[in-house]
Amino acid sequence: MKPSRLRAIPSVDKVLQSLGDVDLPRPMVLDVVRRELMALRAEKIIPDADGVLARIRSGVAGVRASRIRPVINGTGILVHTNLGRAPLGTGAMAALSTIGSNYSNLEYSLASGGRSGRAAYLERGLAVLCEADAATVVNNNAAALVLILRHFCTAAATEVVISRGELVQIGGGFRIPDVLESSGARLREVGTTNQTSLADYARAITRQTAMVLKVHRSNFFMDGFVESPPTEDVAALAKKRRVPFVEDLGSGAAVKTESVAGLEHEPTPAEVLRRGVDLVCFSGDKLLGGPQAGVIAGRGPLVAALKKEPFFRALRCDKLILSALEATVDGYLRGERSTPVLEMLDATIEALRARAERIVGALGGTPLTARVGAGHAQLGGGTLPRSRVASVTIDVTHRTLKAQDFAARLREQPVPVIGYIARGVLRLDVRTIFPQQDLDLVAAIRGASAP
Ligand SMILES: *Cc1c(COP(=O)(O)O)cnc(C)c1O
Repeated sequence: MKPSRLRAIPSVDKVLQSLGDVDLPRPMVLDVVRRELMALRAEKIIPDADGVLARIRSGVAGVRASRIRPVINGTGILVHTNLGRAPLGTGAMAALSTIGSNYSNLEYSLASGGRSGRAAYLERGLAVLCEADAATVVNNNAAALVLILRHFCTAAATEVVISRGELVQIGGGFRIPDVLESSGARLREVGTTNQTSLADYARAITRQTAMVLKVHRSNFFMDGFVESPPTEDVAALAKKRRVPFVEDLGSGAAVKTESVAGLEHEPTPAEVLRRGVDLVCFSGDKLLGGPQAGVIAGRGPLVAALKKEPFFRALRCDKLILSALEATVDGYLRGERSTPVLEMLDATIEALRARAERIVGALGGTPLTARVGAGHAQLGGGTLPRSRVASVTIDVTHRTLKAQDFAARLREQPVPVIGYIARGVLRLDVRTIFPQQDLDLVAAIRGASAP
């Protein structure tokens, strides 16, 4: 590289000056400038001063956009893994704020004035909700599963018996076979992808068997020549052969999902335990609508043994999570349908249409055609993949911009809006948009349509 080319690179100070005010901490901006200038030095071709500045501006914009902030979810997917899964209800938010900003009796007994167990109330509440002897909670459902696997897999018994049809991948990078193997377990697959019988399970259980695992298929369904034995039968077999039987339920609905038109029945933890499963585990932030957590419920001695595992300490939840989950579970036990996900599911088509019409009515004078349309919302988060709930959409076409480009502009707004594109039209599903975001939505659509 010629030295003259090196001299063409502006100094850090000069770039910082030309950048002007950026609403990021100065060390973050400095870091972007240094990295971009270093990258330029490594490349052979150096752009002119404006080009350098443009590149740094785009670097800063990228970093700013990666900062976590609220977005408007117009995707119609209620538990959207990329958009933070379940939003928390007001009770959970109030608990977060009160417990987070104060000292609390997290591990302190107000009765004895000494140390006490963590999460005692929550564990009881979860046990009541799941109609179980006992329950506990860890950081997420993946952690719950790893804890269970590590506990039951010993030097003498390492095999986990699982149906081939349940060796699934859930979302990004969570493959049941990989999770099993990383926990020191050996897979003992039974049956075929579509057919597993009780005899298959019976043959697979040996002295090396650590446990029998059932995994809720969550994000896909199989149709046609498909068969697996009832949970009750597998439970009876596991009991007779004295091996623990665990079900990873994934979502863990605490309500009757079939009471919402368009939704199928999602098994509840209580139901699964009634069928004879020893332990069930599920996520706190899918259909349950709480914070990220993994709940384990079932037989008392097993839950107690899991809590004694040294590894349990590495998975324990923070006080914020515990308080938010406690408030969420209390809501269910009081019979409320107060999580935002349930409230969104309960919204009537008439109410959604009225909002959509108001929003469309507020878009006059823009280079847009906006119409109220009919669509379908989905649970998402790998729950009930076949179920669709009727919904209302706002369908927007820009006079000159392509749908993709208009969608990109919507994502750049102060409150970014995420929709979906169908047949060249940008659609925003009103069911997953909070009513209190309607004004922000109008502002974002207007902002994105401006020339
Ligand atoms: C979602 C899911 C998991 C992972 O749960 P996290 O709480 O995201 O760790 C595990 N198993 C099943 C069946 C799931 O659906």
